[in-house]
Amino acid sequence: MYSLRCIECGEESKEDSYNCECGGLLEVKIHLDQVDLDFKLNGKDLSVWKYRALLPVRIEPVTLKEGGTPLYRLERLEKELGIRRIYVKHEGLNPSGSFKDRGMTVGVTKAIELGRNAVACASTGNTSASMAMYAARAGLKAYVLLPAGKVALGKVAQALMHGAEVIGIKGNFDDALKIIREVCERLKIYLLNSVNPFRLEGQKTIAYEIVDEIGLPDRVVLPVGNAGNISAIYKGFKEFLELQLIDGLPKMTGIQAKGSAPIYKAFLERKEDITPVTNPETIATAIRIGNPVNARKALRAIYETKGLAEVVSDEEIISAQKLLAKNGIGVEPASAASVAGLIKLAKQGMIEKDETVVCIATGNLLKDPETAIKVCGEPKIVEASVEKVISLL
Ligand SMILES: *Cc1c(COP(=O)(O)O)cnc(C)c1O
Ligand SMILES: [Zn+2]
Repeated sequence: MYSLRCIECGEESKEDSYNCECGGLLEVKIHLDQVDLDFKLNGKDLSVWKYRALLPVRIEPVTLKEGGTPLYRLERLEKELGIRRIYVKHEGLNPSGSFKDRGMTVGVTKAIELGRNAVACASTGNTSASMAMYAARAGLKAYVLLPAGKVALGKVAQALMHGAEVIGIKGNFDDALKIIREVCERLKIYLLNSVNPFRLEGQKTIAYEIVDEIGLPDRVVLPVGNAGNISAIYKGFKEFLELQLIDGLPKMTGIQAKGSAPIYKAFLERKEDITPVTNPETIATAIRIGNPVNARKALRAIYETKGLAEVVSDEEIISAQKLLAKNGIGVEPASAASVAGLIKLAKQGMIEKDETVVCIATGNLLKDPETAIKVCGEPKIVEASVEKVISLL
């Protein structure tokens, strides 16, 4: 059992709405006292649907086997920073290559439950790739609005190949979201941006899987764009706390890129809401967002867990991307913001030595091949001879 509630006034809403009448964001309230917990926290068979008992769907889900992503330890970085345990959860190994799949398996299932035949989103790239994939699986029409010229190549390729109708607008993500929200309302299309509370329900399973595998960490560090994921993961931990499966909450730590950091700025001033950034800019296009819709949820997650917000430069992001790559973990730039942020915070003495920290690597390296080649340089080219090749080694 569950209901949809406004996070501001507490009013209940209909299942197919995205905002309360008061304008507040909606949240799915799982009636935890009525849940039959039929899963075991034994670190085995991790997946989004292992925790179906805590997910708000009534029909068989549209699934491509999302979740169950690996948690890697970064021993060399632990030594370097003097932190007890640092893990990276590689969400880039989901079916479409980002954590968005966790949300889409629930969101697209909900679209079917509600009898919709079309879904839509505005996207910095990964939402569109994931939505196109799940819509294709479910046989739904998919419409995508992208900021033209600002989406990494791999993501556009996915959205197109999986059959979405893809439109680039001459504007940024925030403009695209505003437009698609109105289009969805007028044409009765189901909106699958993270303002859709059901998507966040899928994404909260990142928290469940972490607890399932290693128990309660002290801190979770992740990149923040539209701020859905930090809100979702926080919700997951809070539900486990309420169910007495854990006895505390990790410090939720959000990292933004310097050129698009409204949440960081609000955090510095201890505000509950943001002032939008009008021209967000960063090499990490997945978090190039100036007006995050879930800002109020995200700031609560940070304040209520005594967490932190930090900003990192594009140089710090690329350097962390390379560090992860040297540890065998291939991620796209936005994902590396988490590790870049952790390094920066550790060097400022903001992380306790005995902490267990989990960084979320949100998307796969292959999503953005152009940036990878730009920052690594093209391969050398020589004549096809053994001598010439050896001379280069
Ligand atoms: C969507 C996305 C983010 C940002 O997540 P939000 O929920 O919008 O804060 C970060 N990294 C990658 C790779 C993403 O695709
Ligand atoms: Zn309300």
